Amino acid sequence: MVKAIVGANWGDEGKGKITDMMAKEADIIVRFQGGANAGHTIVNDYGKFALHTLPSGVFYNHTTSIIGNGVALNIPVLFEEIQSIVDRGVPKPKILVSDRAQMVMSYHVLFDRYEEERLGGKSFGSTKSGIAPFYSDKYAKIGFQVSELFDEEALKEKVARICETKNITLEHLYHKPLLEPDKLMEELRSYRKMVEPYVCDTSAYLWNAIKEGKNILLEGQLGSLKDPDHGIYPMVTSSSTLAAYGAIGAGIPPYEIGKIITVCKAYSSAVGAGAFVSEIFGEEADELRRRGGDGGEFGATTGRPRRVGWFDAVASKYGCRIQGTTDVAFTVLDVLGYLDELPVCVGYEIDGEVTTEFPPTVMLEKAKPVLETLPGWKCDIRGIRKYEDLPENCRKYIEFIEEKIGFPITMVSNGPGRDDIIYR
Ligand code: GDP
Repeated sequence: MVKAIVGANWGDEGKGKITDMMAKEADIIVRFQGGANAGHTIVNDYGKFALHTLPSGVFYNHTTSIIGNGVALNIPVLFEEIQSIVDRGVPKPKILVSDRAQMVMSYHVLFDRYEEERLGGKSFGSTKSGIAPFYSDKYAKIGFQVSELFDEEALKEKVARICETKNITLEHLYHKPLLEPDKLMEELRSYRKMVEPYVCDTSAYLWNAIKEGKNILLEGQLGSLKDPDHGIYPMVTSSSTLAAYGAIGAGIPPYEIGKIITVCKAYSSAVGAGAFVSEIFGEEADELRRRGGDGGEFGATTGRPRRVGWFDAVASKYGCRIQGTTDVAFTVLDVLGYLDELPVCVGYEIDGEVTTEFPPTVMLEKAKPVLETLPGWKCDIRGIRKYEDLPENCRKYIEFIEEKIGFPITMVSNGPGRDDIIYR
């Protein structure tokens, strides 16, 4: 059975924790999109980790971790990450890298930085990990697949050709130092050495694993609202964040994805720019940010303070629908125990009309939140393992939201740890 674990919101919903938890019963965990731009924070017996490229299943001995063809693979970052977990006592994980995955080149990171500089105040708030330039090149058909590292002559010829085009932009648009083909070749040779032991046809590997009845998890990065087609374009990421893309980015048949577990956070948080209807500010926001997540709402990659807001039922209903949700994992609920009242955004008012359908960006920017307020439960719910043991107002909050989003909440996460979970 293949299960996808994806985000309903803007990212940071706690997919890493849910994946780490579900990996206990899994054989293979696959990353199928995105790169080292976002991070997953995981707390387990080995400590607290921020992973950017490795799938969140690397902490178990019995799992195989796969970097699928859809990933933006930054080879040195991947190897630093492997080293950093091994240094902290985690057994060396079994990793396979798709021969069709494309590589983030050092110039992608530079172009990302230069473009943000050029845009100044109008920038996208990129994490400057090279993701947008990487995917632009992939679809402009000037990217490099891992498999290309193994043909030195063809690689040399392509590197020379790519440097020529890149240098025109570097010279005339950005006024920055030019790329040197020899240096780039050196870099690619070092990548070859690092990645060689792990490269294989991961799609064929997964095909066989599916036939053998293995349990496979597809781990998404970011969330529905950052999807380039269905999200808040252009303030989105550059690869699809949807479960459907899991089939493409892992190279498996779409009909094999039997469960789609959409991770949905009990309040809203977002990094970067873009419309955020239920956003809150000032003291109220500072308090939620400080208490949020596990040790505050600050980006796992950049350390930037996250924007926070009340639960947005309009965005989350849409976020769950567009994922094709079979199960909702409702996370970070424990954080809300301090509130006397919990406002929930149940509609958007746009040009005087109220809607519960999530609109495209131009309309979204005009939307004002319609709030409904529920009573708080005013206690700490961490450590509770049975749904019936949750305070009544807490259950009411969950059930209210379940009704508004229209998908079953089958898991409630009430703490960052592996065991902080309530099944319904
Ligand atoms: P991801 O990108 O979706 O994996 O999310 P992140 O790892 O960026 O953010 C989730 C943050 O919330 C991390 O710091 C987690 O340790 C933490 N977290 C996950 N689930 C829970 C929960 O139920 N309660 C609390 N308090 N923290 C959680």
